[in-house]
Amino acid sequence: MILDFHVHAGQGDGMTGPWDTTAPLAAYARRAREAGISHSILLPVFQSDYVQGNRDVAALVRADPGRWTGFAMVHAVRDRDRVHAMIEEAVLRLGLRGIKVHHHDAPIHRQVCDAAQRWQLPVLYDPGGDVGALSLLAQTHPSVAFVFAHLGSFADDWAAQRRVIDLIERHPNLFADTAGVRRFDLLEEALHRAGPHKLLFGSDGPWLHPGLELAKIRALRPSADAFASIAGGNALRLLRRVSVA
Ligand SMILES: [Zn+2]
Repeated sequence: MILDFHVHAGQGDGMTGPWDTTAPLAAYARRAREAGISHSILLPVFQSDYVQGNRDVAALVRADPGRWTGFAMVHAVRDRDRVHAMIEEAVLRLGLRGIKVHHHDAPIHRQVCDAAQRWQLPVLYDPGGDVGALSLLAQTHPSVAFVFAHLGSFADDWAAQRRVIDLIERHPNLFADTAGVRRFDLLEEALHRAGPHKLLFGSDGPWLHPGLELAKIRALRPSADAFASIAGGNALRLLRRVSVA
């Protein structure tokens, strides 16, 4: 099964661009189907209240749970005092299975990591190129899987992405997704140094085309086993660890 680990969905209220306004799924779903992608992780878009955003994503998942899995988004600063309550609701009532944090909101910190650890949720963290402190996540929360979006930088920060390759090579609980990574040499380096078990295919849909993003994975010419890991096996392994008891 091919699983897309990085797709946005729902409505935001910021209206500075699609990333905080709307992420409609119809065209994405068609493009993904044509590319052979059969399951996708849905993440809320930027917005002023992630409690609402998480409920909206949960509603999309409920409508087609065979097609979608949802992650909860938290704002590390604004939601600091309610992170545990939000994640408890997300896991127990909404059926969400991971946490998304974006550095553009605020850098990740211990409360978020503790909440992830409580339920063994994978954390998809976009560090926005600010990668200097990421090794601490391996030190303080080695049992939590952290996946760095865009190999650490949607803005093609080459030095940051190379640091992320070092990190995912060195630390068992650190991973990266491939969404929107443009410099192909870096994807090759990540695969060869960190290995196929440390990369997760993601598209950053609906804004990027999932078929184009998946073609990059095939262009790496991975072995069949390596392709299966990157294109879904690794994600399923992380999702299976989630503990809702
Ligand atoms: Zn994204």
